[in-house]
Amino acid sequence: MNVPVSPLLEVRNLSVFYSGLQVLWDVSLSVDSGEIVTILGANGAGKTTLVQSIFGLVGERHGQVFFGDTDITGLPAYDVVTRGLSLVPEKRELFPKMTVIENLELGGFPRPEKAAGYNEMFALFPILEERKDQLAGTLSGGEQQMLAIARALMARPSMLVLDEPSLGLSPLLVSTVLDAVGTLNQSGLSILLVEQNVQHALEISHRGYILENGRIIREGSSEELLHDDQIRAAYLGI
Ligand code: ATP
Repeated sequence: MNVPVSPLLEVRNLSVFYSGLQVLWDVSLSVDSGEIVTILGANGAGKTTLVQSIFGLVGERHGQVFFGDTDITGLPAYDVVTRGLSLVPEKRELFPKMTVIENLELGGFPRPEKAAGYNEMFALFPILEERKDQLAGTLSGGEQQMLAIARALMARPSMLVLDEPSLGLSPLLVSTVLDAVGTLNQSGLSILLVEQNVQHALEISHRGYILENGRIIREGSSEELLHDDQIRAAYLGI
């Protein structure tokens, strides 16, 4: 007998409006426990809007978002994070005048004992230990991205949502960051990843969705999407 598996994250029929102007149309997607799922799409397709909607960070929104069995649609972002879903926002949104440790401390707000968390983060990104008393605003782009990921992990999430973590990074750092995302997944973390770096993102993920002008136009296994001629032409330029 097949036991139905319910997804860890499920977005149902999400529509979003900015000042009455619709930017997402009836978007539905899911992420199962243990998966990395990638959202691909051109600039302005609505990827960031989708991610922010999951955390209740946009204004007018219709549809539902479930995390496990809980309907999190109306919940404030801090409540969503406390329930085990953490966000690494586009452009990192660090506290630039605070040190690395202070940024980590804030990310760990749902967690009473933070010292163990700092050690886990320093094991994942050793450079952060060297920089722990440095102001976040003075870190390099790559270090800032590592700190943004570590800050989100401090809340001990069961699922991480990353919005374009490789944005603005050198090719070497893109690999460092996306490889770290793959490693986190292998250690059991479920991940929803928004990426423009299509090849690398699909290589580390299980499934993908393509968002175009606010609508999901395609979904499939990463393998299928990577070998699809239309997708290769549109997103990989080959
Ligand atoms: P990018 O890859 O460039 O970050 P994206 O796929 O994340 O793009 P969004 O940032 O979600 O796309 O934007 C989707 C659409 O909504 C765009 O047309 C954008 O101009 C519009 N938009 C985004 N934020 C707002 C806002 N706060 N007010 C009005 N319109 C907005």
